[in-house]
Amino acid sequence: MAAAEKSARSLGDLQAAGLLGAEVTPDLAAVAGRYAVSVTPGVLRAIRGGDPEGGVARQYLPSSEELQEFPAELDDPIGDGPHSPVKGVVHRYDDRVLLNLLKTCAVYCRFCFRREMVGPGARGLDSAELEAALDYIRGEERIWEVIFSGGDPLTLSARRIRAVLEELARIPHVGVARFHTRVPAVAPELVTEELLAALRAGPTAFVVLHVNHPDELTAEVRAAIARLADAGIPLLSQSVLLKGVNNSAEVLGRLFRALVQNRVKPYYLHHADLARGTGHFRTSIAEGQEIVDGLRQGHSGLCIPAYVLDLPGGAGKVPVARSWILGEAEGSYLLRDRHGAEHAYRDHAAAQQKRPDRG
Ligand SMILES: *Cc1c(COP(=O)(O)O)cnc(C)c1O
Ligand code: SF4
Repeated sequence: MAAAEKSARSLGDLQAAGLLGAEVTPDLAAVAGRYAVSVTPGVLRAIRGGDPEGGVARQYLPSSEELQEFPAELDDPIGDGPHSPVKGVVHRYDDRVLLNLLKTCAVYCRFCFRREMVGPGARGLDSAELEAALDYIRGEERIWEVIFSGGDPLTLSARRIRAVLEELARIPHVGVARFHTRVPAVAPELVTEELLAALRAGPTAFVVLHVNHPDELTAEVRAAIARLADAGIPLLSQSVLLKGVNNSAEVLGRLFRALVQNRVKPYYLHHADLARGTGHFRTSIAEGQEIVDGLRQGHSGLCIPAYVLDLPGGAGKVPVARSWILGEAEGSYLLRDRHGAEHAYRDHAAAQQKRPDRG
């Protein structure tokens, strides 16, 4: 890779990279004025090497469709604000917190649920704020897991990551440090020996890779994933279900098989959040359920993530795949198999537990 390569951070940069037409419409200029733009050299190459209208391009290239807003869309679509006890910390679930050290990313995804918060000018935690966030974690003994999230935590220097992880290692109740990141997929060159060593300097580290389309897994990306896996770091993935990117069992099946073959276990498939100007990416839940059912039919369980939705307002994630339990009455269940056939199942243990009560 040439050292001079830079990310495209404006419409002009994207034009120079040959990825936008010669003319910038006022609408497109308005989109770029409102929401951050950045496409890394690796992603620019993946877009050029693939379909210019395809599943990689659509995730990163701004579109005038982003100006269309729907009444249900929100600035804070998953309700992080009400669950933030101190700046940078989101504490929604008992045993784990999000720790958002920064608000910048290597790329800015057009469907991002934090798009109102992230961007090149947005400031992350300063050292006093980081100390206050760590104090909160120190003081809450029920916190077992610290999850570093967007902005993209793996864009921080290895030195800063190591410093924070070494602090967490001194907190006895913290057992796991999880990183949600797009870096291995969009800036694989940042997965350096220094970073790998830093990730081993604290509590057990897990990396959750955000990737949505199989064409994102270029040779360079697969090599970066292999470096993480060879360093002993367990790898999971999260994907967002996106219309025009990956809304088919065929595309997602290819993505999840490729991830598993590269030692990444698909963890979550997110229903697209109600972020502003992202309606052109949203599918219906019914469509998502069809796709997930389609995946189930022909794919190993290793390739099946949980299909979840984050409730607006902040109540958290809920699984939204179609239920396998169609009904229950008097200890008998009506269950559905992967082909849709129905089966009655008598729950004998429940029936036995009831008997003594009856005397
Ligand atoms: C999604 C999320 C988590 C992680 O949830 P898991 O189900 O453990 O992956 C933790 N905290 C917050 C605030 C979240 O939004
Ligand atoms: S990397 Fe994550 S936080 Fe950053 S723009 Fe993409 S989805 Fe949003």
